[in-house]
Amino acid sequence: MKIIETSHISRRYVMGEEVIQALKDVSISVSKGEYVAFMGPSGSGKSTLMNIIGCLDTPSTGKYILNNQDVSEMSENELATVRNKEIGFVFQTFNLLPRQSSLENVALPLIYAGYNKADRIEKAMLALKGVGLENRAGHKPNELSGGQRQRVAIARALVNDPSILLADEPTGNLDSKTSYEIMDLFDQLYSKGNTIVMVTHEDDIAQYAHRIVRLRDGLVESDKVNLNVKKAK
Ligand code: ADP
Ligand code: ADP
Repeated sequence: MKIIETSHISRRYVMGEEVIQALKDVSISVSKGEYVAFMGPSGSGKSTLMNIIGCLDTPSTGKYILNNQDVSEMSENELATVRNKEIGFVFQTFNLLPRQSSLENVALPLIYAGYNKADRIEKAMLALKGVGLENRAGHKPNELSGGQRQRVAIARALVNDPSILLADEPTGNLDSKTSYEIMDLFDQLYSKGNTIVMVTHEDDIAQYAHRIVRLRDGLVESDKVNLNVKKAK
């Protein structure tokens, strides 16, 4: 079953006289349960594509079908609704609320989704357990290591059971040992059937994914099954 399907999408940015063609013609599909890495040098269009896949932006031309919904021409409000339901975001900088505990951070998306407090606590605890942090529920971000913060962010991304975990440079702020821990967690999430789309410029990190798509100058340069998937453990 296809979760992501882009057909001939392009994205241009107009800055005064200058037109930047960040994506030229990108057709990609990702099926449920895949673990894909998008790679490419700075300026190749990774962030632009990621923003479109994550429903933060829409293509200039072409079509994007996300979980059977045509999102290419949705309004901001419609996009926000789809985004909250379908996408779990993980960022390089974790983006946790500093004054809130792990549990409160993880429970945040459940407030928007309309769950009552008891259900929020139960679901957030379960998500924390899923990343091995049930014993850090009351800790605030500054009481956690970098790797633990990222695991809280991953629990928050998954708490609403999204169709896709979309991770933008998830190990960018972590040392190599901690990066392996996060890649080990991604291995576990993949084994449980999660669909993972990761953007990274680090070849070493991309090797944990089961498929590697390389972008260059706004085009897909290659799209290959990774025959030598690295295991973090
Ligand atoms: P990435 O390019 O890694 O996907 P972003 O597009 O979010 O990350 O980059 C944020 C800013 O940092 C942008 O202005 C981008 O041009 C710049 N940038 C990203 N990677 C590099 C790099 N390797 N060297 C210099 N600047 C970079
Ligand atoms: P990457 O993430 O691979 O570094 P980006 O998608 O950030 O690549 O950028 C692709 C191209 O689009 C670059 O030339 C970049 O400068 C340009 N670009 C990205 N975002 C914007 C923007 N908001 N406005 C204008 N140009 C942009």
